[in-house]
Amino acid sequence: MEVALEDDRAVAYEDDREVAFEDDGEVPTDLGESDDEESDQENNIESTSLASDLATWATYCQVKNNAVDQLLKILQNHGHSDLPSSARILLKTPRQVNTTQKSGMEYLNYPLRDTFLDTLKKYPFEQLSDCDTVNLSFNIDGLPLFKSSGKAMWPVLCAVHLKPITVSPITLTCGNKRPTDLHFLDDMVADLNDLLSSGLQHREKTFEVNVLRIVCDAPAKAFVRNTKLCSGYYGCDKCTQKGQWFSRVIYQETEELTLRTDEAFRHQTQEEHHHGNTPLLNLPIDMVKAFPIDYMHQACFGVRKKLLLIWSRGEKGCRMSVTQIQEVSSRLLHLKPEIPSIFSRKPRGLEELERWKATEFRQFMLYTGKVVLVLQCGNVHFSELYDSQAVFTIRSTTTAVLCCERTGAL
Ligand SMILES: [Zn+2]
Repeated sequence: MEVALEDDRAVAYEDDREVAFEDDGEVPTDLGESDDEESDQENNIESTSLASDLATWATYCQVKNNAVDQLLKILQNHGHSDLPSSARILLKTPRQVNTTQKSGMEYLNYPLRDTFLDTLKKYPFEQLSDCDTVNLSFNIDGLPLFKSSGKAMWPVLCAVHLKPITVSPITLTCGNKRPTDLHFLDDMVADLNDLLSSGLQHREKTFEVNVLRIVCDAPAKAFVRNTKLCSGYYGCDKCTQKGQWFSRVIYQETEELTLRTDEAFRHQTQEEHHHGNTPLLNLPIDMVKAFPIDYMHQACFGVRKKLLLIWSRGEKGCRMSVTQIQEVSSRLLHLKPEIPSIFSRKPRGLEELERWKATEFRQFMLYTGKVVLVLQCGNVHFSELYDSQAVFTIRSTTTAVLCCERTGAL
């Protein structure tokens, strides 16, 4: 099941065929062929091994359609006249998808049972014969589609935890901004409840289904659980503590906390935490533990970014000197050639701190920070601050930011 995210800007031509624009605005050039010709070519793909290999390659390597078009023309000019003339035919891209309206968005649902069964069929049955329970996890999040418009997609993705993990879309909603309510989750919840109660039959074996977790970033988690945002006074999704206002809401105290429980969440014991009900309450999951902490926003963009901003741009007496900031930046840049390709980004200097990506904060927190912060400013040892904060961050990744009393006073 493939979804071409860039295909939403469709234009109807005179012959009523829809032609999808690429994200860069280019129009496929092969507009002259009829539907019959395309259908014939699609049918031929099954028997043409080169075409099916090319289709696999283009999908696996995520090659753009205009590049595949050019390659097909070259191959046709060199004797492969049996190949289709466009990427759309080669990849059998659906020309039209029937959507409905739900939650104020265009809505498309793939039945979970069928999707799950298609996924299981991809695995050798010998691999499945040893397993009675298949674990699933879900991801719900909003994806902006274009920089030039507010159009966004809210997919619900399902991961099947076999080796290798397979991820498939279950629900796709597309529209401006975000869904107006949570009804776009209704079908997914109903399908999942059906699977959880009756399991899945595959080749005379019934597999039990288990939900491991529902993964969302902090804003999406608050949205789908219908609770306050994590920046609100009662926004913490793990405990009932009320935050305090220090230019923004933060959660400082870490003693005598009452942890949230599934039962308390379902009864909305702390009313201030909730906006209302959510379809996810109909699932037999722990509404607190099933939603992991959002590591990216809370550890990388939260604790780590805040500390680096304090250390480089905070009040006098706690921040590094200009020379030290330059020294740290210089050390980071010197590490560039030593960073193996397994990291998606190389280090950048502190002067670009506002533009650091989450992966750069993670790299600093776990790897490079310890090396580049070996310096002292007055009686502040930044490498010691790094040590205490890093251990804390890795273990808890909560919003109680500053474990050092000195910086905690800022
Ligand atoms: Zn808390």
